[in-house]
Amino acid sequence: MPAEIRVFPCLQDNIGALVRDPATGACAAIDAPEEGPILKALEEAGWRLTDILVTHRHRDHVEGIEGLKRRFGCRVVAPAKAAGEVPGMDETVREGDTVRVGALSAEVWETPGHCRDHIAYWFAEDGALFAGDTIFTLGCGRVMESTFEEMWTSLSRFARLPDAARVYSGHDYTISNARFALAADPDNAALKARAAEAERAKAEGRFLIPSTIGEEKATNPFLRAGDPAVARAVGKEGAEPGAVFQALREWKNRF
Ligand SMILES: [Zn+2]
Repeated sequence: MPAEIRVFPCLQDNIGALVRDPATGACAAIDAPEEGPILKALEEAGWRLTDILVTHRHRDHVEGIEGLKRRFGCRVVAPAKAAGEVPGMDETVREGDTVRVGALSAEVWETPGHCRDHIAYWFAEDGALFAGDTIFTLGCGRVMESTFEEMWTSLSRFARLPDAARVYSGHDYTISNARFALAADPDNAALKARAAEAERAKAEGRFLIPSTIGEEKATNPFLRAGDPAVARAVGKEGAEPGAVFQALREWKNRF
């Protein structure tokens, strides 16, 4: 049976997600940015939390863990590279491990770049990627502890997923990301349409998460670092995509 997935806002701009296996009732929160909205989402759906799958150790992704664990006694799975830095951690995982949520299963991908311990959870059978702060709708995370090269490798790996793969990211920065994307890739018609869609969604109190890999490949400048038009926009015509990516990310930091 396919996974049931719900997404909802937490804190200032974080996105909470619940993934449930309808066959067994097992239900995982992807990160725990804030206890209240997660409880509310569980209550609305009539679901019971059994697991928390942590993508990385940053405070705004783990703050809700202790309260939820006290209430539900749920299992906390976190990156091995964040060992000792995630509250309530029960199990650590690394590249190539499989995490089960009832009968659902996710591959663990180490995706360093935003931080050294970052991992993503790829539910292959459901075509759902929980990408944390590695990729966002129309953007990507700041490169804070790893190299630009590592971040580019992580993003390139996402780009090889099927176009229909759904991407659940850890924040909704879509409107500001769209502004930057339009500056970096001004002649991209698909991007213009998507930026307009993002504005409409915001006006209606919605957000564009999940996105799909196909949509991101067509409109996210950070996945389009191999496109000559994007390379030209950062003055890196003919350069390796990794170098174009770095120039884009540095520009976005100043934008
Ligand atoms: Zn983070």
